[in-house]
Amino acid sequence: MNNTSSLSSESRVSPAVIAERLSAVGQLGIAYSDDYLGWLLGAGDGSHPTNPVRAQLATKMLVDELPLATTLVDPASVSHARVREALESVHDPDFVARVVDDGVDDQWLGCRPEMGQTAMTMFAGTISLTEAIIHGTMTVGFNPQGAKHHAAFSSSSGFCVFNDMAWAAREFVAAGLRPLYLDWDIHAGDGTQSMLFDSNIPTLSIHNGSAFPGDGMTRDVGLVGTRHVRHHESNHAFNWCVENTDGDDGFAWAIDEAVAVIDDYQPDVILLAAGADGMGGDNALGVHNTYTYAGFESAAIAVAQAASRWSRGRVLIGGAGGYQPLTHTPRVWANVVEAIYLGVNR
Ligand SMILES: [Zn+2]
Repeated sequence: MNNTSSLSSESRVSPAVIAERLSAVGQLGIAYSDDYLGWLLGAGDGSHPTNPVRAQLATKMLVDELPLATTLVDPASVSHARVREALESVHDPDFVARVVDDGVDDQWLGCRPEMGQTAMTMFAGTISLTEAIIHGTMTVGFNPQGAKHHAAFSSSSGFCVFNDMAWAAREFVAAGLRPLYLDWDIHAGDGTQSMLFDSNIPTLSIHNGSAFPGDGMTRDVGLVGTRHVRHHESNHAFNWCVENTDGDDGFAWAIDEAVAVIDDYQPDVILLAAGADGMGGDNALGVHNTYTYAGFESAAIAVAQAASRWSRGRVLIGGAGGYQPLTHTPRVWANVVEAIYLGVNR
Protein backbone atom coordinates (compact mmCIF):
# COMPACT_ATOMS: atom_id res chain seq x y z
CA MET A 1 0.00 0.00 0.00
CA ASN A 2 3.01 2.29 0.17
CA ASN A 3 2.51 3.54 -3.33
CA THR A 4 -1.01 4.66 -2.62
CA SER A 5 -0.59 6.15 0.84
CA SER A 6 0.62 9.46 -0.53
CA LEU A 7 -2.55 9.71 -2.60
CA SER A 8 -5.00 8.62 0.03
CA SER A 9 -5.75 12.06 1.40
CA GLU A 10 -6.80 13.47 -1.96
CA SER A 11 -10.51 13.96 -2.42
CA ARG A 12 -11.34 11.70 0.50
CA VAL A 13 -14.50 12.40 2.45
CA SER A 14 -13.86 12.66 6.18
CA PRO A 15 -15.04 9.79 8.42
CA ALA A 16 -17.24 12.18 10.36
CA VAL A 17 -19.07 13.27 7.24
CA ILE A 18 -19.46 9.68 6.14
CA ALA A 19 -20.88 8.65 9.51
CA GLU A 20 -23.36 11.52 9.38
CA ARG A 21 -24.59 10.43 5.97
CA LEU A 22 -24.94 6.78 6.84
CA SER A 23 -28.63 6.78 7.44
CA ALA A 24 -28.25 4.89 4.20
CA VAL A 25 -31.14 3.71 2.09
CA GLY A 26 -29.16 0.79 0.71
CA GLN A 27 -25.87 -0.97 0.96
CA LEU A 28 -22.75 -0.71 -1.13
CA GLY A 29 -21.77 -4.10 -2.49
CA ILE A 30 -18.25 -4.82 -3.67
CA ALA A 31 -17.61 -8.03 -5.57
CA TYR A 32 -14.09 -9.14 -4.80
CA SER A 33 -12.11 -12.34 -4.54
CA ASP A 34 -8.39 -12.88 -4.21
CA ASP A 35 -8.90 -15.12 -7.24
CA TYR A 36 -8.94 -11.84 -9.20
CA LEU A 37 -5.21 -11.59 -8.51
CA GLY A 38 -4.72 -14.49 -10.91
CA TRP A 39 -5.78 -12.28 -13.82
CA LEU A 40 -2.23 -11.95 -15.11
CA LEU A 41 -2.37 -11.19 -18.80
CA GLY A 42 0.50 -11.20 -21.23
CA ALA A 43 3.54 -13.01 -19.90
CA GLY A 44 1.76 -13.68 -16.60
CA ASP A 45 4.47 -12.17 -14.43
CA GLY A 46 2.61 -9.04 -13.28
CA SER A 47 4.31 -6.75 -15.74
CA HIS A 48 1.17 -6.26 -17.85
CA PRO A 49 -0.53 -2.83 -17.54
CA THR A 50 -3.69 -4.46 -16.16
CA ASN A 51 -1.97 -5.67 -12.97
CA PRO A 52 -4.96 -6.94 -10.93
CA VAL A 53 -3.52 -5.63 -7.68
CA ARG A 54 -5.42 -2.46 -8.62
CA ALA A 55 -8.67 -4.29 -7.75
CA GLN A 56 -7.38 -5.35 -4.35
CA LEU A 57 -6.18 -1.82 -3.53
CA ALA A 58 -9.47 -0.18 -4.52
CA THR A 59 -11.44 -2.70 -2.49
CA LYS A 60 -9.28 -2.10 0.58
CA MET A 61 -9.73 1.66 0.29
CA LEU A 62 -13.51 1.33 0.17
CA VAL A 63 -13.66 -1.12 3.06
CA ASP A 64 -11.43 1.19 5.13
CA GLU A 65 -13.24 4.39 4.21
CA LEU A 66 -16.88 3.21 4.22
CA PRO A 67 -16.72 0.43 6.83
CA LEU A 68 -20.35 0.62 7.86
CA ALA A 69 -21.74 0.70 4.35
CA THR A 70 -19.65 -1.84 2.52
CA THR A 71 -20.59 -5.46 2.02
CA LEU A 72 -18.03 -7.68 0.37
CA VAL A 73 -19.61 -10.17 -1.99
CA ASP A 74 -17.75 -13.34 -2.90
CA PRO A 75 -18.16 -14.18 -6.59
CA ALA A 76 -17.87 -17.85 -5.58
CA SER A 77 -21.37 -17.53 -4.14
CA VAL A 78 -22.65 -17.84 -7.71
CA SER A 79 -22.72 -21.45 -8.87
CA HIS A 80 -20.55 -22.59 -11.72
CA ALA A 81 -23.65 -23.70 -13.63
CA ARG A 82 -25.25 -20.27 -13.22
CA VAL A 83 -22.15 -18.48 -14.51
CA ARG A 84 -21.90 -20.83 -17.49
CA GLU A 85 -25.56 -20.34 -18.34
CA ALA A 86 -25.19 -16.56 -18.11
CA LEU A 87 -22.07 -16.56 -20.30
CA GLU A 88 -23.76 -18.65 -22.97
CA SER A 89 -26.81 -16.38 -22.94
CA VAL A 90 -24.74 -13.50 -24.36
CA HIS A 91 -21.67 -15.15 -25.93
CA ASP A 92 -21.09 -17.78 -28.61
CA PRO A 93 -21.05 -21.10 -26.66
CA ASP A 94 -18.05 -22.30 -28.67
CA PHE A 95 -16.08 -19.23 -27.59
CA VAL A 96 -17.12 -19.80 -23.96
CA ALA A 97 -16.02 -23.44 -24.14
CA ARG A 98 -12.65 -22.49 -25.64
CA VAL A 99 -11.94 -20.06 -22.81
CA VAL A 100 -13.47 -21.92 -19.85
CA ASP A 101 -12.81 -25.56 -20.74
CA ASP A 102 -9.54 -25.22 -22.62
CA GLY A 103 -8.16 -22.07 -21.00
CA VAL A 104 -7.16 -20.72 -24.39
CA ASP A 105 -7.45 -17.09 -25.43
CA ASP A 106 -5.23 -14.59 -27.15
CA GLN A 107 -5.38 -12.24 -24.17
CA TRP A 108 -2.78 -14.42 -22.47
CA LEU A 109 0.10 -16.29 -23.97
CA GLY A 110 -0.17 -19.99 -24.65
CA CYS A 111 -2.55 -22.38 -22.99
CA ARG A 112 -3.16 -21.52 -19.33
CA PRO A 113 -6.34 -23.30 -18.23
CA GLU A 114 -6.58 -21.44 -14.92
CA MET A 115 -7.18 -18.13 -16.72
CA GLY A 116 -10.52 -19.35 -18.04
CA GLN A 117 -11.67 -19.95 -14.49
CA THR A 118 -10.51 -16.48 -13.43
CA ALA A 119 -12.47 -14.94 -16.30
CA MET A 120 -15.53 -16.77 -14.98
CA THR A 121 -14.92 -15.50 -11.44
CA MET A 122 -14.74 -11.89 -12.61
CA PHE A 123 -17.97 -12.32 -14.57
CA ALA A 124 -19.57 -13.98 -11.52
CA GLY A 125 -18.79 -10.86 -9.50
CA THR A 126 -21.07 -8.85 -11.74
CA ILE A 127 -23.75 -11.55 -11.59
CA SER A 128 -23.81 -11.40 -7.79
CA LEU A 129 -24.18 -7.61 -7.74
CA THR A 130 -26.82 -7.58 -10.47
CA GLU A 131 -28.93 -10.08 -8.55
CA ALA A 132 -28.54 -8.09 -5.32
CA ILE A 133 -29.69 -4.89 -7.03
CA ILE A 134 -32.65 -6.69 -8.59
CA HIS A 135 -33.62 -8.16 -5.22
CA GLY A 136 -33.28 -4.76 -3.57
CA THR A 137 -30.62 -5.75 -1.04
CA MET A 138 -28.12 -3.27 -2.50
CA THR A 139 -28.43 -0.02 -4.39
CA VAL A 140 -24.85 0.51 -5.54
CA GLY A 141 -22.58 -2.33 -6.63
CA PHE A 142 -18.92 -2.21 -7.66
CA ASN A 143 -16.91 -4.91 -9.37
CA PRO A 144 -13.36 -3.63 -9.82
CA GLN A 145 -12.74 -6.39 -12.34
CA GLY A 146 -16.02 -5.74 -14.13
CA ALA A 147 -17.03 -3.78 -17.24
CA LYS A 148 -14.94 -5.76 -19.70
CA HIS A 149 -16.32 -3.58 -22.41
CA HIS A 150 -14.32 -4.60 -25.50
CA ALA A 151 -15.40 -8.26 -25.33
CA ALA A 152 -17.65 -9.21 -28.26
CA PHE A 153 -20.10 -12.04 -28.95
CA SER A 154 -17.54 -14.58 -30.12
CA SER A 155 -14.17 -13.05 -29.35
CA SER A 156 -12.13 -11.23 -26.75
CA SER A 157 -10.50 -7.88 -27.40
CA GLY A 158 -8.44 -5.23 -25.63
CA PHE A 159 -7.79 -7.17 -22.38
CA CYS A 160 -11.51 -8.07 -22.16
CA VAL A 161 -12.80 -11.65 -22.48
CA PHE A 162 -16.40 -11.82 -21.22
CA ASN A 163 -18.76 -8.85 -21.45
CA ASP A 164 -20.37 -8.77 -18.02
CA MET A 165 -22.15 -5.45 -18.53
CA ALA A 166 -23.95 -6.62 -21.68
CA TRP A 167 -25.20 -9.60 -19.68
CA ALA A 168 -26.21 -7.43 -16.71
CA ALA A 169 -28.14 -4.99 -18.89
CA ARG A 170 -30.18 -7.82 -20.38
CA GLU A 171 -30.73 -9.36 -16.95
CA PHE A 172 -32.14 -6.07 -15.67
CA VAL A 173 -34.53 -6.01 -18.62
CA ALA A 174 -35.59 -9.59 -17.85
CA ALA A 175 -36.35 -8.43 -14.30
CA GLY A 176 -38.62 -5.70 -15.63
CA LEU A 177 -36.18 -2.83 -15.20
CA ARG A 178 -35.14 -0.16 -17.69
CA PRO A 179 -31.33 -0.05 -17.77
CA LEU A 180 -28.97 2.45 -19.40
CA TYR A 181 -25.25 1.87 -19.92
CA LEU A 182 -22.74 4.73 -19.53
CA ASP A 183 -19.03 4.17 -20.26
CA TRP A 184 -16.35 6.80 -19.55
CA ASP A 185 -13.31 4.56 -20.00
CA ILE A 186 -10.91 6.44 -22.29
CA HIS A 187 -11.39 3.67 -24.87
CA ALA A 188 -14.75 3.20 -26.58
CA GLY A 189 -17.21 0.69 -25.19
CA ASP A 190 -17.39 -0.98 -28.56
CA GLY A 191 -18.10 -4.53 -27.41
CA THR A 192 -20.96 -3.53 -25.16
CA GLN A 193 -22.39 -1.27 -27.86
CA SER A 194 -22.27 -4.05 -30.46
CA MET A 195 -23.78 -6.64 -28.11
CA LEU A 196 -26.66 -4.33 -27.19
CA PHE A 197 -27.00 -2.56 -30.55
CA ASP A 198 -30.20 -4.34 -31.53
CA SER A 199 -31.72 -4.13 -28.07
CA ASN A 200 -33.58 -1.08 -26.85
CA ILE A 201 -30.98 -0.53 -24.14
CA PRO A 202 -29.13 2.78 -24.54
CA THR A 203 -25.32 2.63 -24.64
CA LEU A 204 -23.42 5.87 -24.03
CA SER A 205 -19.65 5.99 -24.45
CA ILE A 206 -17.26 8.88 -23.75
CA HIS A 207 -13.81 8.15 -25.12
CA ASN A 208 -10.73 9.38 -26.94
CA GLY A 209 -11.68 9.17 -30.60
CA SER A 210 -8.05 8.66 -31.60
CA ALA A 211 -7.46 5.66 -29.38
CA PHE A 212 -8.17 1.93 -29.51
CA PRO A 213 -10.32 0.34 -30.90
CA GLY A 214 -10.56 2.91 -33.71
CA ASP A 215 -13.63 1.45 -35.39
CA GLY A 216 -16.07 3.53 -37.36
CA MET A 217 -18.97 2.63 -35.10
CA THR A 218 -17.71 4.59 -32.12
CA ARG A 219 -15.94 7.46 -33.88
CA ASP A 220 -16.22 9.33 -37.16
CA VAL A 221 -13.05 8.32 -38.97
CA GLY A 222 -13.08 11.62 -40.85
CA LEU A 223 -13.02 13.58 -37.61
CA VAL A 224 -10.31 11.75 -35.69
CA GLY A 225 -8.30 14.17 -33.60
CA THR A 226 -11.21 16.50 -33.02
CA ARG A 227 -13.91 16.57 -30.38
CA HIS A 228 -17.02 15.14 -32.03
CA VAL A 229 -20.00 12.80 -31.68
CA ARG A 230 -20.87 9.59 -33.49
CA HIS A 231 -24.43 8.72 -32.55
CA HIS A 232 -26.73 5.98 -33.88
CA GLU A 233 -29.88 7.32 -32.36
CA SER A 234 -32.26 4.72 -33.79
CA ASN A 235 -30.19 2.07 -31.99
CA HIS A 236 -29.89 4.13 -28.80
CA ALA A 237 -26.09 4.17 -29.25
CA PHE A 238 -24.29 7.42 -28.38
CA ASN A 239 -20.57 8.19 -28.65
CA TRP A 240 -18.73 11.32 -27.58
CA CYS A 241 -15.14 11.54 -28.76
CA VAL A 242 -12.69 13.70 -26.86
CA GLU A 243 -9.27 14.66 -28.19
CA ASN A 244 -5.84 13.39 -27.21
CA THR A 245 -5.19 16.62 -25.36
CA ASP A 246 -8.49 16.79 -23.53
CA GLY A 247 -8.67 16.96 -19.76
CA ASP A 248 -11.55 17.73 -17.42
CA ASP A 249 -13.14 20.27 -19.79
CA GLY A 250 -13.64 17.67 -22.50
CA PHE A 251 -14.82 15.11 -19.97
CA ALA A 252 -17.37 17.59 -18.58
CA TRP A 253 -18.60 18.50 -22.09
CA ALA A 254 -19.41 14.88 -22.78
CA ILE A 255 -20.88 14.17 -19.34
CA ASP A 256 -23.25 17.13 -19.68
CA GLU A 257 -24.49 15.80 -23.02
CA ALA A 258 -24.75 12.25 -21.65
CA VAL A 259 -26.82 13.46 -18.71
CA ALA A 260 -29.26 15.03 -21.16
CA VAL A 261 -29.67 11.62 -22.82
CA ILE A 262 -30.12 9.98 -19.41
CA ASP A 263 -32.74 12.53 -18.42
CA ASP A 264 -34.56 11.96 -21.69
CA TYR A 265 -34.56 8.16 -21.25
CA GLN A 266 -35.23 8.09 -17.49
CA PRO A 267 -33.58 4.73 -16.72
CA ASP A 268 -34.40 2.90 -13.52
CA VAL A 269 -30.91 1.42 -13.22
CA ILE A 270 -27.61 2.87 -14.49
CA LEU A 271 -24.67 0.67 -15.48
CA LEU A 272 -21.35 2.49 -15.39
CA ALA A 273 -18.03 1.43 -16.91
CA ALA A 274 -15.85 3.66 -14.73
CA GLY A 275 -12.50 3.35 -16.48
CA ALA A 276 -9.77 5.33 -14.74
CA ASP A 277 -7.49 5.40 -17.77
CA GLY A 278 -8.24 8.99 -18.81
CA MET A 279 -6.32 10.09 -15.72
CA GLY A 280 -3.32 12.31 -16.37
CA GLY A 281 0.22 11.34 -15.51
CA ASP A 282 2.51 8.53 -16.55
CA ASN A 283 0.80 5.32 -17.49
CA ALA A 284 1.75 1.99 -18.96
CA LEU A 285 -0.41 2.23 -22.07
CA GLY A 286 0.46 5.50 -23.77
CA VAL A 287 -2.78 7.32 -22.94
CA HIS A 288 -2.42 11.07 -23.43
CA ASN A 289 -5.49 12.46 -21.70
CA THR A 290 -5.27 14.54 -18.57
CA TYR A 291 -8.40 13.99 -16.50
CA THR A 292 -7.92 14.79 -12.81
CA TYR A 293 -9.43 13.62 -9.52
CA ALA A 294 -11.74 16.65 -9.66
CA GLY A 295 -12.96 15.70 -13.14
CA PHE A 296 -13.78 12.15 -12.08
CA GLU A 297 -15.53 13.39 -8.96
CA SER A 298 -17.70 15.79 -10.97
CA ALA A 299 -18.65 13.01 -13.35
CA ALA A 300 -19.47 10.68 -10.46
CA ILE A 301 -21.65 13.32 -8.81
CA ALA A 302 -23.51 13.80 -12.10
CA VAL A 303 -24.20 10.06 -12.24
CA ALA A 304 -25.32 10.04 -8.60
CA GLN A 305 -27.70 12.91 -9.25
CA ALA A 306 -29.15 11.19 -12.32
CA ALA A 307 -29.52 7.95 -10.37
CA SER A 308 -31.31 9.85 -7.62
CA ARG A 309 -33.67 11.44 -10.15
CA TRP A 310 -34.56 8.31 -12.10
CA SER A 311 -33.27 5.03 -10.70
CA ARG A 312 -33.81 5.16 -6.91
CA GLY A 313 -30.06 5.28 -6.59
CA ARG A 314 -29.44 1.99 -8.38
CA VAL A 315 -26.00 2.01 -10.03
CA LEU A 316 -23.90 -0.99 -11.09
CA ILE A 317 -20.26 0.03 -11.52
CA GLY A 318 -17.46 -1.89 -13.23
CA GLY A 319 -13.84 -0.79 -13.04
CA ALA A 320 -13.02 -1.21 -16.76
CA GLY A 321 -9.54 0.11 -17.62
CA GLY A 322 -6.85 1.85 -15.62
CA TYR A 323 -3.12 1.62 -16.30
CA GLN A 324 -1.63 3.22 -13.21
CA PRO A 325 -2.50 0.10 -11.21
CA LEU A 326 -0.46 0.80 -8.08
CA THR A 327 -1.17 4.52 -7.81
CA HIS A 328 -3.97 6.54 -9.44
CA THR A 329 -6.23 3.77 -10.75
CA PRO A 330 -7.45 2.34 -7.41
CA ARG A 331 -7.73 5.85 -5.92
CA VAL A 332 -9.86 7.07 -8.84
CA TRP A 333 -12.11 4.01 -8.64
CA ALA A 334 -12.58 4.32 -4.88
CA ASN A 335 -13.32 8.04 -5.14
CA VAL A 336 -15.88 7.46 -7.88
CA VAL A 337 -17.65 4.69 -5.98
CA GLU A 338 -17.68 6.76 -2.79
CA ALA A 339 -19.04 9.82 -4.57
CA ILE A 340 -21.80 7.80 -6.20
CA TYR A 341 -22.70 5.88 -3.05
CA LEU A 342 -22.75 8.97 -0.86
CA GLY A 343 -24.47 10.98 -3.58
CA VAL A 344 -27.42 8.64 -3.97
CA ASN A 345 -27.81 8.35 -0.20
CA ARG A 346 -27.76 12.05 0.45
ZN1 LIG B 1 -9.59 1.77 -21.50
